[in-house]
Amino acid sequence: MKPFAYVRATSLREAAEAYAAHPGARYLGGGTNLVDLMKLGVETPGTLVDISRLPLEEIGELPGGGLRVGAMVRNSDLAADPRVRTRYPLLSQALLAGASGQLRNVATTGGNLLQRTRCTYFQDPSKPCNKREPGSGCGARAGIHRDHAVLGHSEHCIATHPSDMAVALAALDAEVELYGGTGGTRTVAATEFHRLPEDHPEQDTLIRPGEIITAVLLPAPAPGAVSLYRKARERASYAFALASVAVVLDLDPDDGRVRRIALAFGGLAHRPWRATTAEARLTGATPDAGAVRAAVDAELARALPLRDNAYKIPLARNLTCDAIAALVGQHPGAPATQ
Ligand SMILES: Cc1cc2nc3c(=O)[nH]c(=O)nc-3n(C[C@H](O)[C@H](O)[C@H](O)COP(=O)(O)OP(=O)(O)OC[C@H]3O[C@@H](n4cnc5c(N)ncnc54)[C@H](O)[C@@H]3O)c2cc1C
Ligand code: SF4
Repeated sequence: MKPFAYVRATSLREAAEAYAAHPGARYLGGGTNLVDLMKLGVETPGTLVDISRLPLEEIGELPGGGLRVGAMVRNSDLAADPRVRTRYPLLSQALLAGASGQLRNVATTGGNLLQRTRCTYFQDPSKPCNKREPGSGCGARAGIHRDHAVLGHSEHCIATHPSDMAVALAALDAEVELYGGTGGTRTVAATEFHRLPEDHPEQDTLIRPGEIITAVLLPAPAPGAVSLYRKARERASYAFALASVAVVLDLDPDDGRVRRIALAFGGLAHRPWRATTAEARLTGATPDAGAVRAAVDAELARALPLRDNAYKIPLARNLTCDAIAALVGQHPGAPATQ
């Protein structure tokens, strides 16, 4: 690891000023991703600005029944919070499906959103990678890409976004709150926060240099809606998603039709993929197996699989159909025959 300076910030303003004063600085949350990348020589910051002691560890109530999750709330604390478990079970499930218990005890809400892709070419500075070194090429496209994207990729990058939590946040219509020093505070929809690679894969998100994630805002859940996170991975112990799905479902209690569905995929694209085509087809429909499968297939028709990752399409389809069927079965508005 290359030598670096270390600054511990005691306020947001001090953190932003320290970042601005040290070109190439990085903020340090739990360090579980950043420090790994420093050991690999992928990240070489001259200065680490430690923001882990900032007072951003609260989970607070928002007017109307939502929650404000501070950026330093640890993944295990967020998953275990009784309000999260009751109001947003899919968020708790997504967090618990990610990493190991030890990692979740250290990993933060802000750092989880900003963790980098697990593409092995990105993690190896001896290999070409447009995300790590723009213009150097994409080693994965013709190389090993079994874990890579089938939706929304570009000729410049086919990496997937690794966070399970971010997939749940996309389905929940959460917002990300950002502090930008003299620029004040702004919020960005979780569905927009991560970007598709296009011709700038080095930019994972819409965050601006020096901005700090201060919180995630969760809107109040719709009364009666049920939710679920399902993840397919290569082993039961910790592993990143090959494919995952987050579903929020609300049925009309009178006729069992879909009043509202939110559906997001993980492991398939450079960002959590909100399945708007499937959502539109299912809204107002009776969620029987045929209708669900047709809607999910319509979404996945946009996929452009590579040589070795076409398996992700049936995997995502089956995962999603099973998840929706399970939710229909437990929804208070489900028809008695289901
Ligand atoms: C073995 C292993 C398995 C894993 N498996 C999974 C998995 O299955 N699913 C999953 O989702 N994750 C998984 N992870 C990833 C893990 O969840 C992330 O490493 C962790 O969430 C990152 O959080 P952190 O606070 O440690 O971030 P850090 O490493 O501190 O930071 C990550 C990035 O975010 C920036 N940053 C941190 N906080 C802020 C902030 N508030 N504002 C602005 N910038 C900030 C840092 O500068 C850095 O660039 C795994 C990790 C490991 C090592
Ligand atoms: S897929 Fe993206 S991250 Fe992986 S080598 Fe290609 S450009 Fe780099």
